[in-house]
Amino acid sequence: MQLKIFISLLLLSLVACTPSDPYQDRKFQQQFYVFGTLVGITLWDESPEKAEKAAQTLVQTFQEYHQQWHSWQADSQLTALNQAIAAGESWQVHDSLISPLTVMAQHFYQTSDGFFNPAIGQLVGLWGFHADELPTGPLPSEKQIAKLLAAKPKMTDIQVKGHVISANNPAVQLDFGAFAKGYALDLIIEKLKSMGIKNAIVNAGGNLKAIGKAGDRPWMIGIRHPSPTEKVGVIAAIPVETEMSVVTSGNYERYREFEGSRYSHIIDPNTGWPVKGVSSVTVVDESATLADAASTALMVAGLQDWHRIARQMGVKYVMLIDGSHTVHVNPKMARLAEFQRRNLPDAVVSKPLE
Ligand code: AMP
Ligand code: MG
Repeated sequence: MQLKIFISLLLLSLVACTPSDPYQDRKFQQQFYVFGTLVGITLWDESPEKAEKAAQTLVQTFQEYHQQWHSWQADSQLTALNQAIAAGESWQVHDSLISPLTVMAQHFYQTSDGFFNPAIGQLVGLWGFHADELPTGPLPSEKQIAKLLAAKPKMTDIQVKGHVISANNPAVQLDFGAFAKGYALDLIIEKLKSMGIKNAIVNAGGNLKAIGKAGDRPWMIGIRHPSPTEKVGVIAAIPVETEMSVVTSGNYERYREFEGSRYSHIIDPNTGWPVKGVSSVTVVDESATLADAASTALMVAGLQDWHRIARQMGVKYVMLIDGSHTVHVNPKMARLAEFQRRNLPDAVVSKPLE
């Protein structure tokens, strides 16, 4: 039975309830395309009126956040802030969540030793990831990359004073793509709770946050196998029965290809190049904001530094899948994750994080 719930959740963003679904009466599922991604909501044992209202709130809220935080669309508030920074001007925040996002980004920049650096928007753009259609042509030149690296854009170049944001480095270009979805998940779950909703999962492009349970069972959240050719689509499942988020960052999510090689959308701020050697990182935490920031940071930190950075960031559950699909987990994650028996991966259990 547990497996059945698990599979139905995995397909959350792909299928609606089917007539044979044994939980159809108790489950409400809807999905939308916002934030450049699929957003889904699943509720359990809620009245149809409340469920409809929750779904509407979800869409409106995501649309509003998208408008504020989009990293490259001309009409977003973040683009206006980036233009001000490039011109050496300060920017007055109007009714926006950009200030708290910036302050949180500064915190995660520090705790991740700069592996998480949302000030490198120019590098992300240079690699072609500020576009819906990714480039197929030649890669940026070493000269272009070196020029942006030399300007050293970093989160400590930014000052947030009340409602005014400024930067003393015009090379800073903010791109909150690495943790905005996590923050949105936290805010939406708070809204759902204030509406009296007790059992819910919200899915933002494969990053999920859950509260309550799926009836008398925990929610089961699948972690995708990073290999697209793998027959079994999931490598493990995470049972969730309190407020918890499961966020994955992967090199298979957005990448460009050139001459047979893949270049991921996650850029190492130290080299200016897309990360290599790690296929995905999943972080489980009550805070989806932390889980999202940390999963990106640990992708960059890689095999050598993930454990140290996870400790510094205060993360408790990590699953890192390396380039050869060996799974690296801390002991707590090894106990939490339910691996697929038919598809047991090679696994390395690290020292405890705490
Ligand atoms: P995620 O899928 O959460 O790992 O976020 C990836 C996105 O974060 C990319 O598409 C970029 O917009 C942005 N990004 C890439 N590299 C970094 C980095 N080192 N630090 C912070 N943000 C990054
Ligand atoms: Mg992230």
